[in-house]
Amino acid sequence: MNITATHINYYHICHRKLWLFSNGIQMEHTSAVVDEANLIHETSYPQRAAKFTELELGGAKIDFYDEKNRVVHEIKKSNKVEKAHEWQVKYYLLLLLRAGVEGATGILEYPKLKKITRVELLEDDIPTLEQDEKQIEMIVRNQEVPEKINKSFCKKCSYFDLCWVE
Ligand code: SF4
Repeated sequence: MNITATHINYYHICHRKLWLFSNGIQMEHTSAVVDEANLIHETSYPQRAAKFTELELGGAKIDFYDEKNRVVHEIKKSNKVEKAHEWQVKYYLLLLLRAGVEGATGILEYPKLKKITRVELLEDDIPTLEQDEKQIEMIVRNQEVPEKINKSFCKKCSYFDLCWVE
């Protein structure tokens, strides 16, 4: 299985979301929240595409990579699930390390909140992410969809209708 940073992100948000996404059930095209996030991504820093590189690593794609300073920039709309965002960026840093790029760091950017969070890949993070990769494979290959979680962020999830509307 080709694990990407999106799998890592969803693993830290909701195992059901991870399972649905990984098993080909995608509803992001129906979500206004996702549309708004994409808009923020495209319009917050219009000069950015010229400044930074888009980088493909296996199946994962880093939209904005500052090659000179070895910095991954990840833009997000809200910091409600910031831990998941941090693990997503840490996974990019692990993929870079596996590709031979040492010492890369990350910056999470929240333009609407005017906030940034710096992210580093610590030594202890590597076995944690390797364990996450194994857990993700197990969850995704399971025949049964994981149980719903009842969290406030469900309302913003693209699977909300599927999970909660009778
Ligand atoms: S709506 Fe909630 S339970 Fe359903 S996939 Fe999204 S986060 Fe998980």
